[in-house]
Amino acid sequence: MEEIVGKKVKIKAKGRIFEGIVMPSTTGSLVLKLNNGYNVGFVDYEVIEVEDLERREEKPPIFKNPKLPNVKIISTGGTIASKVDYRTGAVTSQFTAEEIVGDVPELAEICNVDACLLYNILSENMKVEHWVKLAREVYKSLKKYEGVIVTHGTDTMAYTASALAFMLSTPKPVVFVGAQRSSDRPSSDAAMNLVCSALTATSDLGEVVVVMHATTSDDYCYIHRAVKVRKCHTSRRDAFKSINYPPLGKVIYDTRKITWIADRIRRNEKELSIKDRMEEKVVLIKFFPGLKPDILEYYYSKGYRGFVLEGTGLGHVSTDWIDTLRKVTEDSLVVMTSQCLWGRICDRVYDTGRYLLKAGVVEGEDMLPEVALVKLMWLLGNYELEEARELVRKNIVGEITSSTRYWEAEY
Ligand code: ASP
Repeated sequence: MEEIVGKKVKIKAKGRIFEGIVMPSTTGSLVLKLNNGYNVGFVDYEVIEVEDLERREEKPPIFKNPKLPNVKIISTGGTIASKVDYRTGAVTSQFTAEEIVGDVPELAEICNVDACLLYNILSENMKVEHWVKLAREVYKSLKKYEGVIVTHGTDTMAYTASALAFMLSTPKPVVFVGAQRSSDRPSSDAAMNLVCSALTATSDLGEVVVVMHATTSDDYCYIHRAVKVRKCHTSRRDAFKSINYPPLGKVIYDTRKITWIADRIRRNEKELSIKDRMEEKVVLIKFFPGLKPDILEYYYSKGYRGFVLEGTGLGHVSTDWIDTLRKVTEDSLVVMTSQCLWGRICDRVYDTGRYLLKAGVVEGEDMLPEVALVKLMWLLGNYELEEARELVRKNIVGEITSSTRYWEAEY
């Protein structure tokens, strides 16, 4: 039976015909995933037909409507481009970008899509070099298309989107989109997220954003500013939350309408340009009670000159770090962020904070730790240390907001 695992078969059992995909089984019975999604085991059966699922259906060429805007989809992998591999039971990336478009025909009512497959990787395998190559690809596409969509694994999507937000100045929307559930599952969020991302990519927007389900229903997506969003749940479809700033807007799936919520950068407000050098010797260190400053010394000895600390509360690490920090900040940039996520760093309230400031630590304002990390990579890649020290506290692409207003979860 091993040889037909993962294949589509037609069998005769109990006097009836059943069709489905053969699942791996340890019991000796034949387990079929039927078209309705249920798995059924058979002991007595006769296999009538075997079809190899790897035989791919040819997708017809996509019709282009001259009245619609042109959008480029750059596929990088992740669940949005995945299907369950029934031979192993794992989720693996299998689709090219054209196949994604073929699977979501509504896209053709919104825009003309060109697609390319840049990577086919799960986002935990993204590296800084992938961000840079992607930024260059998006930059090229922005010269030709009304908007660009990047399909990406959700785990590290916010890092990549932030990296592009710093590297690119864009007059047009650059939309990151993913899926929490692969498209062969009934609960998949892939199609709606893609439709909403196409509406965003053709809208009056000029910045890098993330578009994902806002609720657990198929009602609307949020448009999150790339540098203000975090994946906050491992599996829920509404996993992405804007932090310290509201989502820029919501895209209603039914009506295909966008309602804008917060101040945004509009289409054509900025000129297209790219600054794509990134310094990789930058590290993010999460402090916990008892963590010794040796960790700083270790990275320093390896040549790291950019440090983001994810401190406690208003932005603290224990006072036994002060001496090491004083040494490190002489020729490095050390930025404090908070494990609280919501709120702003203020190192002027407690003694510890004042010592940290004196030791040369820079307050990271209301930046997310991972955004501060990416910003530091970008700043140290493109500016001298002193200039980077000035710029790190300044808002560049919306990563720092001026008010400490607490944005509620509902908009
Ligand atoms: N591990 C996957 C990734 O980030 C999960 C996803 O795509 O949602 O690529």
